[in-house]
Amino acid sequence: MEIKRFFAEQIDGDNIVLGGEEFYHCVKVTRHKVGFTIIVCMGDGWDYYAKIESIEKDRLTAKVFRKEQNKSEIEGSLILLQAVCKELDFIVQKAVEMGVTDIVPFYSTNTSVTGVKQDRLQKIVLEAAKQCGRARLPKVYEPLAFDKAIELSRTAENRLLCYEHCNRKSLKSAVQKNTKSLALFIGSEGGFTELEIAFAREKNLKVVSLGKRILRAETAAIAALTLSLSALGEL
Ligand code: SAH
Repeated sequence: MEIKRFFAEQIDGDNIVLGGEEFYHCVKVTRHKVGFTIIVCMGDGWDYYAKIESIEKDRLTAKVFRKEQNKSEIEGSLILLQAVCKELDFIVQKAVEMGVTDIVPFYSTNTSVTGVKQDRLQKIVLEAAKQCGRARLPKVYEPLAFDKAIELSRTAENRLLCYEHCNRKSLKSAVQKNTKSLALFIGSEGGFTELEIAFAREKNLKVVSLGKRILRAETAAIAALTLSLSALGEL
């Protein structure tokens, strides 16, 4: 049987305590028993192999017997800045699977959806990270205004904004090969306004194309991440 992965808050020497939702998942959903082996992640890039030693009402303890560097994380950082849209949950799940390190939802002029359920997004991130074998939980920011999202992206070396009316530069050609940090902006189903595009250019973002057809936001996000990972040599 495949060894299941769980995220814990802390490790004390060789001892791991699993509580809350992760305890519930481990004991009630996947029905782990004393003596079973689990992989525990602490968000530090390591996989801790541990044997369950005791199960109580709301927590379990496990003892680490091996520690391995997790190999599923990408090098450097890949930040997805995504306009809030109907398919945000789906996009967050796919982005985690694709290996993003940070997700920044933002509001733009043509965003029709309001109110992002932060708890729900965190849960989606946790489930997706476990399912795809990651050892780190990507950070999900509280939604920001577009200009604040641009400001936040300033830490990235390579910043690209996908725009369907840009036929000059392909995303693939705009990814710097050895960049340590790449930020990708994707719009909502309403897209970016011309003013927003002008503002982004003023702030030195590269405006890029994903091809000749207009993609839905969720398709654009997956396509942009795939092309970026390929250009970075991560695929
Ligand atoms: N409102 C627009 C479409 C928006 S598509 C319209 O109906 O005309 C949603 C987002 O996906 C866009 O804001 C953009 O970031 C991205 N996108 C879709 N197709 C694209 C393409 N061909 N090139 C670059 N980005 C694209």
